[in-house]
Amino acid sequence: MIVSDPFLYENGTAESIGKSLKGKDVAYFSEIEPNPSCESVDKAAEAARTIKADCVIGLGGGSALDVSKMVSCLVTNVGSIYDYYAGGTKQLQPRTTELICIPTTAGTGSEVTNVGVFTNKKAGIKIPFVTNEFWPDYAILDPELTFTLPPAVTASTGMDAFCHAIEAYWNKDSLPICDMLSLGAMKMILENIKQAYEHPQDMEARGAIITASLIAGISFSQTRTTGIHALSFPITTEFGASHGVACAITLSAFIKISGEKEKEKMLVLANYLGYASINALSEAIEKLMISMNMPVRLSQIGIRESDLEHITQVGLKAAIIQLTPAIMNEETVYALLKSILE
Ligand code: NAD
Repeated sequence: MIVSDPFLYENGTAESIGKSLKGKDVAYFSEIEPNPSCESVDKAAEAARTIKADCVIGLGGGSALDVSKMVSCLVTNVGSIYDYYAGGTKQLQPRTTELICIPTTAGTGSEVTNVGVFTNKKAGIKIPFVTNEFWPDYAILDPELTFTLPPAVTASTGMDAFCHAIEAYWNKDSLPICDMLSLGAMKMILENIKQAYEHPQDMEARGAIITASLIAGISFSQTRTTGIHALSFPITTEFGASHGVACAITLSAFIKISGEKEKEKMLVLANYLGYASINALSEAIEKLMISMNMPVRLSQIGIRESDLEHITQVGLKAAIIQLTPAIMNEETVYALLKSILE
């Protein structure tokens, strides 16, 4: 079964992949919305069970890939995603259906992580599900699949990949191997994102960003993410920002405070990326985002001062926030959000 983003189904890509699988019976599921809901997962799983799918191919951005991960597990695990996640009490039994992930954004790195992020409509929140059953068997990168990304999605998904790399690098659980992967990924993204944004069919720039996204995915899947992703969950579910925008909007502010516990390491990063100080790196990131028409202030995406308390509370509930290299409590998180309000 090919679990595909609707765009990739409508433009014929899913079917052309299906046709290339000569001798195989292929079914398609493409009813996947951004920030996919558990209900969409259950619907796709039902379709996959009906045909006893022996292989699930995820084709699309993080949303489609995450759905494909859970569907590949639910072919042989009875019940609903709600039975296994967000309060569900059942344990996933080992996946026997093969899982192949082909990203068409660059990106989430979902093709190489053990994470799936789903919107739990019952609780009104978006939460990650982490399980070893989600490591895909194969990841296939084809930069050409990202040629059709609109500039705004190129910008937001590329900055999401940058966030993965930096969050693995400054993470309290960072690892030397991940540091190396992250440094390389961040450099590749900064050197190529503007070119991909302005010239969507530039194979070299697209290839660099999708590779960097995969490398950042390998890196953060070992360390997990930090405050940027913790705060992105309420910013997405309650204010409608795309995942990449919800992450990148706090990136500059987090870079500024990251020196609190990791000054030397953050200076190494700033210098490696060509900046004299941590603040200079933070300012350069903000300028880059503005040059790609991305919002850099919370008010630009409809957030008001009266919302900050709530975002702070929800963000602090995500355990990953404490992997940030700075003190994260009600006071500091509120102050960070306030600093990027207007
Ligand atoms: P997405 O998958 O939601 O796609 C965004 C938009 O781009 C959609 O409208 C989609 O139709 C369109 N699109 C996708 N590929 C396209 C293409 N090639 N051409 C034209 N349009 C295309 O966005 P995303 O940022 O890739 O994924 C975000 C989701 O992934 C969120 O739910 C996020 O929480 C999750 N995520 C998962 C992981 C993980 O490790 N599993 C990591 C980070 C984020």
